[in-house]
Amino acid sequence: MATDWGSLLQNEKQLEELVRQAVDRALAEGVLLRTSQEPSSSDVVSYAPFTLFPSLVPSALLEQAYAVQMDFNLLVDAVSQNTSFLEETLASTIKKDQFTAHLFDIHKQVLKEGIAQTVFLGLNRSDYMFQHNADGSPTLKQIEINTISASFGGLTSRTPAVHRHVLSVLNKNKEATRILSNNPSKGLALGIAKAWELYGSANALVLLIAQEKERNIFDQRAIENDLLARNIHVIRRRFEDVSEKGYLDSKCRLFMDGQEISVVYFRDGYMPSQYSEQNWKARLLLERSCAVKCPDIATQLAGTKKVQQELSREGVLERLLPGQPEAVARLRATFAGLYSLDMGEEGDRAIAKALTAPGRFVLKPQREGGGNNLYGEEMVQVLEQLKDSEERASYILMEKIEPKPFSNYLLRPGSPAQVVQCISELGIFGVYVRDGQRYVMNKHVGHLLRTKAIEHADGGVAAGVAVLDNPYPV
Ligand code: ADP
Ligand code: MG
Repeated sequence: MATDWGSLLQNEKQLEELVRQAVDRALAEGVLLRTSQEPSSSDVVSYAPFTLFPSLVPSALLEQAYAVQMDFNLLVDAVSQNTSFLEETLASTIKKDQFTAHLFDIHKQVLKEGIAQTVFLGLNRSDYMFQHNADGSPTLKQIEINTISASFGGLTSRTPAVHRHVLSVLNKNKEATRILSNNPSKGLALGIAKAWELYGSANALVLLIAQEKERNIFDQRAIENDLLARNIHVIRRRFEDVSEKGYLDSKCRLFMDGQEISVVYFRDGYMPSQYSEQNWKARLLLERSCAVKCPDIATQLAGTKKVQQELSREGVLERLLPGQPEAVARLRATFAGLYSLDMGEEGDRAIAKALTAPGRFVLKPQREGGGNNLYGEEMVQVLEQLKDSEERASYILMEKIEPKPFSNYLLRPGSPAQVVQCISELGIFGVYVRDGQRYVMNKHVGHLLRTKAIEHADGGVAAGVAVLDNPYPV
């Protein structure tokens, strides 16, 4: 096959030279992470891990993933506005999951007080794997949707140049031109800019909530840079800074260091460890403000695994998107098997199935950021422990997607390049802006392909497992 890139290499020496060129090009293009060296600063950087070659992705599935993205945007937004659906869906989960419960409390509180803003901005990323069917064909199956802090839209725009370089070195110039250009962060910035404009105060700033020790800062900077080019200024602050120096005036306008904030963009606040008592207070303050929140707390809740599982239940999509049967069909086609573990017969049956065939399922808690899911023997142990307690409702069960493995080289600072068996996960970035009941924007803005060795069941790029890649459409 013309696209078995590895077969183009004559020997080890040629591989080493190609890797050196790829790494230098990645550094030159700005495919960068800060190193984990303390104190965290941009003084010491290295390249973000990436594959030596672009990985083959069926064009039809790439197109399908793009085509369903606007539907997912509308679905997430519909869930976020449907208080009774969120309440019913999360009722059993919040009894046993404190983090989700805390988010939900804030949601209830701002609803009670009245939501201070009519503009809503969603920046999300829907992730998929390619299920390898018995007849050899692949099917697009959603892994999850990220409604907060969806990352790598910046770095991924710089990797096509690296893979084109690699293919050009191998005299595959025609193939090099087939690597798609891609710039998600530009689209994400466009959404923020639209929300900023609708807020309607020329001097107001965008507040990016970030951690102090942020290795992935250049990915975030890509969005900041794009906004600055539109003359929209961004300040980066931690939750702690907000609690010390942020305040609301009598009209609920948010001020930070005395400057008015139009849009709050969260690149923090999606895991329990990111919240101290003080940080929860800061989150509540931000939620109460009339700044546009990306995401607002209801949209963050719409991205939970429990909501994902409930969406797959018969009739739910139809109820949330009435009069849109085509959208419903496109969405449903991407759903894998998802099972509630709530107390009762349905949950009992799901647990029994997982215990009988553990290799076919994944157990997921309400967590983001990678490395939290349970597989195989570990899953069995936890299910045995939980099966008679209400705690099981804080998890969901999902069918395990089994893509067909392929070989590629994973390049990481400090490790020799080695060919490994891999699988990929495709993400599509979506942006929407709603003003009252009117959609001002609803689009897809690019993709992300991440590839990992098959021996790792879980984990993304930030977790040190997956690496950046590009789809080579076939
Ligand atoms: P997180 O919010 O932590 O990113 P995910 O649902 O995306 O949680 O799961 C993390 C990783 O686990 C995914 O990137 C993927 O590699 C793997 N994974 C998750 N769900 C499945 C599944 N149903 N089948 C196979 N692998 C899965
Ligand atoms: Mg994920």
